[in-house]
Order: sequence, then structure tokens, then C-alpha cells
Amino acid sequence: MNAKQLPHVVIIGAGFGGLTAAKKLRNAPVRITLIDKQNYHLFQPLLYQVAIAGLIPAQVAYPVRTIFRGQKNLTFQMGAVTAIDLESRYVKLDGSVIAYDYLIIAVGGETNFFGMDSVQRNGFQLKDIESAIDTRNHLLKMFENASREADAEKRKAMLTFVVVGGGPTGVEISGALAELISHVMRREYPALDINETRVVLLEAGEALITSYPDELRKDTHRLLSGKNVDVKFKAKLTDYNGQRVTLADGTYIAANTLIWTAGVKASGITSQLGVQLAGSGRVRSEATLQVPAYAEAYVIGDAAYLENGNSQPLPMLSTVAIQQGDAVAENIQRAVKGLDQKPFHYKDPGLLATIGRNAAVARIWGLSFSGLMAWLIWVGLHIYRIIGFRNRLVVLINWAWDYFFYDSQVKLITRE
Ligand SMILES: Cc1cc2nc3c(=O)[nH]c(=O)nc-3n(C[C@H](O)[C@H](O)[C@H](O)COP(=O)(O)OP(=O)(O)OC[C@H]3O[C@@H](n4cnc5c(N)ncnc54)[C@H](O)[C@@H]3O)c2cc1C
Repeated sequence: MNAKQLPHVVIIGAGFGGLTAAKKLRNAPVRITLIDKQNYHLFQPLLYQVAIAGLIPAQVAYPVRTIFRGQKNLTFQMGAVTAIDLESRYVKLDGSVIAYDYLIIAVGGETNFFGMDSVQRNGFQLKDIESAIDTRNHLLKMFENASREADAEKRKAMLTFVVVGGGPTGVEISGALAELISHVMRREYPALDINETRVVLLEAGEALITSYPDELRKDTHRLLSGKNVDVKFKAKLTDYNGQRVTLADGTYIAANTLIWTAGVKASGITSQLGVQLAGSGRVRSEATLQVPAYAEAYVIGDAAYLENGNSQPLPMLSTVAIQQGDAVAENIQRAVKGLDQKPFHYKDPGLLATIGRNAAVARIWGLSFSGLMAWLIWVGLHIYRIIGFRNRLVVLINWAWDYFFYDSQVKLITRE
């Protein structure tokens, strides 16, 4: 068959889900157009390392064209999809129209500020390379500014770092930030009284990392407190003006830095699909990952809403997106052959979050680990999962250097 006559699969998003589906369709009798607004795949779980000056962006991202340079049935197009017409089966990309036979919507998520404009305007977030670099520049600049500030109150506000959200990302960044201060900044700013620095983690609920077993939640709290992170429970933020964090109980914290990690929602494009959406703008999918009433369109990853066996929505995690990428590729191959679609079942590989040097919590194979053992598993797994051999090697060397010399590689304040 002429290549042009092969069924056309359009994949929107080269994140965890889209990338996995595209790779899995490598030998399928289809032609693939993979679209992403960025020309790289981003390994979001290590984004916080860019923000705390531990890694450079090129170590947590990889060019999509390089990943697929050997895959003959795939074309990559860089650009933002601005519209999806499920009835007429096409997507709009920067003014051009691309028709499809099968569509995979793998557009991921974006930060959810729950309508708090002041937080969005004045706070920092971790979602893409730009936001991570902005955060890094700001954090480092606070130390520069504080080192020449004579007013003690102003200096304290510069050195108070508030992280909002006690989920894995909030835990990871507050632990890493506390270590950056105690291991690196302490030595680089000898004139600063490091006791004036504060990392505060605000959690609106009564526990950290709520999806983890109770013993690991407690361990996380203990490990963070051991690193001098001030964890505040039932601390609901209501406003942030860039200088002062206001809490629901009327108290406030003077802080020139707020990092928001307390919410994710599906990428904006899902709202114009004209289909039923669940909470956080996620598209409700069939168990087969198809969009209801549109058998040739599939939705996966953070953009999709599917309930687990226990009536809980599948979490917005890379492991879900990857497994769904695999499953959707299989279902498309079955559809091409005229076979029935298979329902998706998530196999939970466990939970893992790092809290800093020698400290992590893990729930794997039904067992809970914390401390050094969990941290070693975390390091090994992340090195293994980063895309590209060169990136793996460089990250490993970087981390080993930082570990043995209590250093941090990327303390550059670049142009804002
Ligand atoms: C800071 C942070 C830390 C995290 N840590 C972990 C962790 O430790 N473990 C874990 O399992 N998960 C973690 N996650 C969650 C994980 O990254 C997501 O669940 C996962 O990336 C979802 O995969 P996806 O394929 O659905 O979307 P993504 O990986 O987000 O990819 C979506 C892609 O779609 C593209 N895109 C979006 N809209 C358009 C458009 N209109 N046109 C063209 N392209 C578009 C984007 O550019 C992006 O490349 C973390 C997330 C963040 C932000």
C-alpha cells in the first residue's frame, strides 16, 4: 500500500503519553503526525531540580526530532493546536488544517490557581522550562538582594520561601530548597545570617502526600522537619501580593517568594472540544480511552479522566500517561485490523517522592521504605527514566558531584 493511503494517526502532545504511543506505533501500518508546541519532550518530574539550580534545562528535556529520527512512519510538526473538530476529524495548527483517521489527545495539564489571580501574577510555578528558570533566577536573586539589604525586616522577607501544596512536588521542592540553603548558600553568602532564612510549606489539609500510606506521610513530615522546613497544616492561602502571604485564618507571612504547587488542571484546549468534562477540565473517556461518541478519537494522560476499579480517578502521573500511551497504540492497531477495543487497566507501580539528600519515601511491591534506601531507589529510577544516554550520564555525574562536594551546579542568574 502507498504510504499516503495508510490510516493517518495524529498525536497532539509529545509528553509521556504521546511519546509512548508514537514509539509503540513504530511498526504499525499507519502514518503518524506528532504535534507539540515545543520541540522537546520534557521530563517534568525533575523540573524542580532546574528551579533549585541543580540541573540545566537540556538535562531534563530532549528534542523530539532526535528521539524519532529513525522512525520512518512519523512526521513531527512543531506548533500549537488551536482547535479540534471531532465531527469533521481535523485539527487546526497555526492556521493549517490536518485531517486524521485516528486522533490521540495527549495535551497534558497546566497549573490550576483556582481563580486566585494574585497568586498567579505574583507567585511562581513549575510547569515548563521557562517557569523553572524564572523560579531559579528569582531564588538566586533573593540571596543577592538580601546580602546587601540593611533593613532586617526586608531581609527576612527576601529570605522567606513559601511553598504551597503538600503533594509530592511541594515536598520535593521544599526539601531541596532547604538543602540548597544549608549546604550551598551558607558557604556562598558568608556575610548572611543563614538563621534568617526560612522555608515554609503550606498545606490546606491535615497531612502531606495524602495518597501515600500513613507511615510514609509521617516519615515525610519528620524528614522535612529535620531539614528545617516549617510545615504548616490547615494553612489555606487566600492572597499573595508579592510581599505578603495571607492565610484564611487572617494571619500572614512576609515573603518575597511563593511557589505554588497546589493544583493541576487539564490543558486549556480540552474546554473547546464540546464533550463532557470532569473536574479540572479533564475529558471523560471510555474504559477503552476513546472519547465518548467519537470512536476514532482517544484521550490519555493528564488530559483524560478515567476512574480506577475503586471509583477513584486515575492520578495525574507520568506512569498513568505512559501506560495509557501503550494501551492506546494497541487499540488503534486493533481498530485498523477491525478488532474489538480493549479496556484500559492501570497497574500501579508504586509511589516515590524524594525529600532531599539520603531522604525519600517509597511504596513499592506493597512495602514502604523511607530514608536512604528509598532515596537510592529514587536516584536509580530517575536516572533510568531520563531520555537519552548522554543526559543520563551527565545527570549522574552532576548529582554525584553535588552529593560529594555539597555543591549545586547551575547557580546562574540569567536574563529575565
Ligand atoms: C513539577 C512536576 C513534577 C512532577 N513529578 C512527577 C513525578 O515525580 N512522578 C510522576 O509520575 N509524575 C509527576 N508529574 C506529573 C507528570 O509529569 C504528568 O502526569 C505527565 O507529564 C502527564 O503526561 P501527559 O503525556 O499527559 O502530558 P505532558 O507530559 O504534560 O505532555 C503534554 C504535551 O502536550 C503539549 N501540548 C499541550 N497543549 C498543546 C497544544 N494545544 N498544541 C500542541 N501541543 C500541546 C505540551 O507542550 C506537552 O509537551 C509531575 C508534574 C510536574 C509539573
